Amino acid sequence: MNKKGVLIVISGFSGVGKGTVVKNLIEKYQYSLSVSATTRAPRSGEVDGRDYHFKTVEEFQNLIDYNGFIEWAQYVENYYGTPRKYVEDELEQGHNVILEIEVQGAMHIKEQYPDAVLIFLTAPNAETLRQRLEGRGTEDAKVIAKRLKRAYEETDDMPQYDYLVVNDDLDICVDEVHAVILAESFKTEKHKQYIKKMKEELFEIRKEILS
Ligand code: 5GP
Repeated sequence: MNKKGVLIVISGFSGVGKGTVVKNLIEKYQYSLSVSATTRAPRSGEVDGRDYHFKTVEEFQNLIDYNGFIEWAQYVENYYGTPRKYVEDELEQGHNVILEIEVQGAMHIKEQYPDAVLIFLTAPNAETLRQRLEGRGTEDAKVIAKRLKRAYEETDDMPQYDYLVVNDDLDICVDEVHAVILAESFKTEKHKQYIKKMKEELFEIRKEILS
């Protein structure tokens, strides 16, 4: 019924498990994942082109200048951006595309793509979030403190999202996010074309029967 794909934005506090939720979503269901560009250094185990397109600040700036991003933002001293071409091509082919991005980027997406579904992933409570961030062991105490400060600021943006999903049990969370996206794709306002076509077809049938 719906030709174009759905654009899905997933944001959430640092340490909430967004990456794992998204990875499981893609393994279990059919979604296209946009790989962002960033100026941040790769973490151990991260692969260029799979986790991120790792760029120098100069390369990143060039991409901004050439309109290569549908959105970009600065987050805790690094730049992050969503490459335009992949997202536009996938949506055009009718694929549902996931962007895992922070809140400033999500707001820019909402302005440009009013039909995008914005989902915010959160933890059951603040202490759990802190423990997850510390337990990850990928950032030093200073970076963790900055990310928790940022999380506090991000609570102001949470009401702007369409859906809030708690990541307590991973499998449940993955299914809940999928359910939200599924429900969204059935909204009548997304099927105006179908309704119009159905009306035309029924009009013809009615004519045939009454003649
Ligand atoms: P991390 O350094 O932990 O991989 O990511 C830091 C933050 O940047 C996360 O909240 C992540 O969702 C966000 N992020 C990743 N890629 C993008 C992007 O392309 N655009 C924006 N605006 N944020 C992004």
